[in-house]
Formats: sequence, structure tokens, C-alpha cells
Amino acid sequence: MLAATDSLDRLKEELGVALGADYVIDSEAVRAQHSMGESFHKAGLPDVVVHPGSTEDVVAVVQLCRAYRVPLVPFGAGTSLEGHVVPLQGGVSLDTSRLNRIVRLSVEDLDVQVESGVTRKQLDARLRPEGVFFPVDPGADATIGGMVATGASGTTTVRYGAMRENVLSLTVVTPEGEVVRTRSRARKSSAGYDLTHLFIGSEGTLGVITDATLRIYPSPEAISAAVCSFTSLDAAVRVVIETIQLGIPVARIELLDDVQMDAVNRRSALGYPVAHTLKTSCGASAVNLLYFVSFRAVDVPRFMLGRDIGKIVRSLTFRVIDFGWRGAYSRHKKIHFCLHGHTKASWDHELDTQILGGFLFFVNSVTCRFYYTFFNFP
Ligand SMILES: Cc1cc2nc3c(=O)[nH]c(=O)nc-3n(C[C@H](O)[C@H](O)[C@H](O)COP(=O)(O)OP(=O)(O)OC[C@H]3O[C@@H](n4cnc5c(N)ncnc54)[C@H](O)[C@@H]3O)c2cc1C
Repeated sequence: MLAATDSLDRLKEELGVALGADYVIDSEAVRAQHSMGESFHKAGLPDVVVHPGSTEDVVAVVQLCRAYRVPLVPFGAGTSLEGHVVPLQGGVSLDTSRLNRIVRLSVEDLDVQVESGVTRKQLDARLRPEGVFFPVDPGADATIGGMVATGASGTTTVRYGAMRENVLSLTVVTPEGEVVRTRSRARKSSAGYDLTHLFIGSEGTLGVITDATLRIYPSPEAISAAVCSFTSLDAAVRVVIETIQLGIPVARIELLDDVQMDAVNRRSALGYPVAHTLKTSCGASAVNLLYFVSFRAVDVPRFMLGRDIGKIVRSLTFRVIDFGWRGAYSRHKKIHFCLHGHTKASWDHELDTQILGGFLFFVNSVTCRFYYTFFNFP
């Protein structure tokens, strides 16, 4: 928190001159909106929220914060779960929602340049009609800047990688107020330091990302999906590991335990068996359609055969781009729905695949079951 009220007033005044008074807000409600995001951590109010509309605006904000020695926290959509956006020391919350332009789309080169406040769904709506898509999907409608800053991943990471694999270059305003372009659009270049990857996962601590050039992909012409339930968590985990080891080209694969399946069924009025379940999909272009069909018809049943499968509920459906991955979104929404208003915790794990099944069994039996059962479905 700023020590002297008069210097805080002066800072707000100067911010108003730089950005326009409408884009410098210190109302209680807006400050509260920027005090915690989706995390369970204790909130912390910023002194003021600013809405810059360009890289130049961001430079002005950074320089003023520097001059007044005030902390600055970038704020995307506030969907991060680990307290990233909490302004622990007050100061300025820099909301990127006005940095929302899709600057350049090149379907030929398979890349797109966007400002950092563009959201995942906004980008998807622009790309889909062009027959291309950006694959990283953390479920929430996060901003691209926030996704870069947290190194986001999602259900398609098994096939397309996370943000780390899909960002070509960034424009960043450093804490000194300098504008850095991390590299050109060229795919092949070994010149200079790899600054792009330094900023991916930097969680707002190394600078404010103002735009990003992203890798995009042709939309698959056909998608096949399977939903398989298992009698044990361990069997489901083994199937995931072996699917990857065998190089079976799944586009998505996601594990939901029996408790989560129950939640998904209730939330979205679905009728899946309440059991440990793998949802997986596989996409293909016209060129490898033949291979794709043979995968669908032969490999999956052969591969699954003999595994500890309770039931293949909805298997090997073959459609033309209409599988909405409804269950997965249901899972994201359901978890969100369940957690709201309750104490919640989230953390990332680094585990040896050998012990993954056992670990999930432990988490499933102790934490989730207690949580879902007692807090959400009395
Ligand atoms: C229901 C639900 C499901 C989720 N599932 C996943 C998942 O599967 N995988 C996953 O990875 N995440 C997941 N998340 C977490 C979250 O969606 C991601 O962390 C997302 O990338 C955060 O983006 P955001 O725009 O909301 O960023 P914010 O929460 O606003 O900010 C996150 C961090 O990035 C910094 N930041 C934001 N914008 C910028 C910028 N322009 N420049 C510099 N720093 C910036 C902030 O200071 C902060 O440190 C989920 C969240 C929810 C609510």
C-alpha cells in the first residue's frame, strides 16, 4: 500500500493524464474484482485499476509505477488458481481487457498475432471460419497474455503441446519501461537468446506482455471420439501411458474419476456410467483420413482389448467436425461450479508415471471424494 495518500492521489492523476480518466478506476467494486481472481488465497486490494489500450499506454503505466515505486500486477481474465493476480502490496492492477485486437492472421504461414487481452474464445471465433484453430485450451476463457504468463496447458496438450510449444514471439514491456520484441516470426532462427521462453511461465514478474504471435493448426476434417470406463484408476492410467508410448495419435485424452463423472452427469444431465473414465479424441485431415479410419476401426479395439475396461460407452463414433468435447467442458464447468464459494486448493505435481496410478488413487479416495460428496451433493 502506498504510504502517503497525497502521492497516491498524484499517481492516479498522472495515470489519468496518460490513459484518460475513464481508464483509471479506484472504486471499491472494481478493486475487489481485481483482488484475487479464481484462487482460494486471501485477497489483497489494489489501490487502483488501470486499463491501458496500447503498448505505449503500458509503457506509461510501468514508468509511472517505477517513478512512484509502486508495485504493478498484470491482470488478464483472473482465472488463475494459485493467487497469481493478488496484489499483496496494493499498488496498480493492470487489466489487459482493452488490449483485445487480433492484429494479423496468416492462414498461409499458420500463425496469428494477437494483443495480450484477447481471450481464448474470442480467438477461436476468429480462427474457426478460416479452417484453423489454436489448440491450447485451459478450459476457462483465459486471455492469451495470462496463458503465456502461466505457461497454460489443457486437454489437447498430449497432441499439440502447451503454450511453451505454441508461442513464436512476444512483445513485452520490461520493468524499466522498455519494449522488447523477443524474436521475428521466422520459424527457423538460431540467432540470439531465447527470450520468448524466458517470459513463458514468468507469471507477470518479468514484464507485461502486450502481444503474442502464436502457432495455429488446420482444423481436422474429421474427429473420432471414445469414452471408456475402467474398473480401476490404475488401469485407466496405464492405458494413457501406453497410448502415448505406442504413438497412437490422440488429439485429447483426459481422465475423470468416478466422483467427477458423477458431477459431470449431474451438471449436464448426461448418462455416463459413474466409473473411472477416459475421454479421448483423434482428428485427421483428408490426406490421412484412410489411416485415421483404419486407426479407428482396428487399432483402438485391438489396443483396448484385454485391458481392465468396464465398458466402452461411446466408442469410435466417426463424425465430421461436430464433436463438441462436451464432457470435458462439463468437467471444467462442473469443477468451477463446485468450487465456487468454498475453500479450494490447487497445485501442480511432478510425478513419476510409475507412481501416478497410486497417487491418483490416494487423492481420489481422500480429497476429492470428501470434497464433492460433502460440500456439493448433500
Ligand atoms: C475451471 C478452470 C479450469 C482450469 N483448467 C486449467 C487447465 O486445464 N490448464 C491450465 O494451465 N490452467 C487451467 N486453469 C487456470 C487458468 O485458466 C490459467 O492459469 C490461465 O492461463 C490464466 O489466464 P488469465 O488470463 O485468467 O490470467 P490471470 O489469472 O489474469 O493471470 C495469471 C498470471 O499471469 C499474469 N498475467 C496476466 N496477463 C499478463 C500479461 N499480459 N503480461 C504479463 N503477465 C500477465 C498475471 O499477473 C498472473 O501472474 C483453469 C482455471 C479454471 C477456473
